Amino acid sequence: MIKFACDGCGRTKKAEESWILGLAAESIGVQSARREVNILSSWAEPEAVHPLAVHFCSDRCKEKYMRKLFKGEAA
Ligand SMILES: [Zn+2]
Repeated sequence: MIKFACDGCGRTKKAEESWILGLAAESIGVQSARREVNILSSWAEPEAVHPLAVHFCSDRCKEKYMRKLFKGEAA
């Protein structure tokens, strides 16, 4: 069985829990490299096991992660 950990707080997902799923996209263009995360409307296993998938147990963790992502980019 595959285990998912929250990318915000590190908690492990329980089977019955409904988590937030996102797919990170890294696009390296001519002018800049930028990272973005597309939040999916529902949890789906094929996307959840994707190498670029990110998993969050709550909105709070999602927001924390996004803030960190964009702060890191600015630094
Ligand atoms: Zn979490």
